[in-house]
Amino acid sequence: MATALIPPFATPGRAFLVTAILGYHLVALLAVVPYFFSWAGVGLAVAGYAVALLGINIGYHRLLAHKGIACSKRVEHGLAVLGVLAAQFGPAYWVAIHRRHHHHVDDESDPHSPRTGMLWAHMGWLLAASDNTDPEAITRRYAKDLLRDPFYVRLEANGGWIWIVVASWVAVFAAGAVAALIAGGTAADAVQLGLSLAVWGIAVRTVWVWHVTWSVNSVSHVWGYRSHDTPDDSRNNPIVGILAFGEGWHNNHHAAPRSARHGRRWWELDLTWLAIKALAWIGLVTILDAGDRTASPAG
Ligand SMILES: [Zn+2]
Ligand SMILES: [Zn+2]
Repeated sequence: MATALIPPFATPGRAFLVTAILGYHLVALLAVVPYFFSWAGVGLAVAGYAVALLGINIGYHRLLAHKGIACSKRVEHGLAVLGVLAAQFGPAYWVAIHRRHHHHVDDESDPHSPRTGMLWAHMGWLLAASDNTDPEAITRRYAKDLLRDPFYVRLEANGGWIWIVVASWVAVFAAGAVAALIAGGTAADAVQLGLSLAVWGIAVRTVWVWHVTWSVNSVSHVWGYRSHDTPDDSRNNPIVGILAFGEGWHNNHHAAPRSARHGRRWWELDLTWLAIKALAWIGLVTILDAGDRTASPAG
């Protein structure tokens, strides 16, 4: 059996995270300036919201962290790269933090329990160093399986995933500029369209997806109803359930973590589950655990 490959864990430093999170919020605020507006930018933001959030929900969460579905390595890596576009760490560190959350849910070793404070659970835990989120220690402990794959080691090593995010900024700006020039625009038009796509399609979309995902950790452990008597504070929150594409049915999730389906009642809309069913229908993924007795066994 392959042993775990240990990447040089140089990132992410907390000073870098504070700067990046503050910087993204400031750039996203430029959206209120008319110069940075374009309908193409808004469209890209909506599309990016769906793609990046499904990358996190399907790739990072239901596939890599909980293994409720299975697929080929090529599809798995593709889904993981879509998750990287959400700028929420590389897959191995994200999975490690999340598995520790399930392991220590709502106790003092939970990386982001609202019992420490609502703002802490939402984003404070990202900004302050803590033993509960030490990149090297917890990734080695909780994500050994991912560290056996050189692809994830490369994404983790020296913050390799960050370069994919940087490339997405460059690609989006360049695509807007080239499109404006092809349409006969001036150099000023090219810069304006490129910047509008970057501000809306990357900054606004990323900040939106961050707060939606962070709300799963904060809001869905405080407000909502409980369908299952789990030994934690998890809740099913309809607003987070819808905005986070199913992840807000969080009490259901803590009751059956491996299940690839989080919405259980007909009205608990779980867009991620619908997307997984579509991927299964075209043969890209296999559902291992749908949270009911009809689920096919793992293997
Ligand atoms: Zn939770
Ligand atoms: Zn989970």
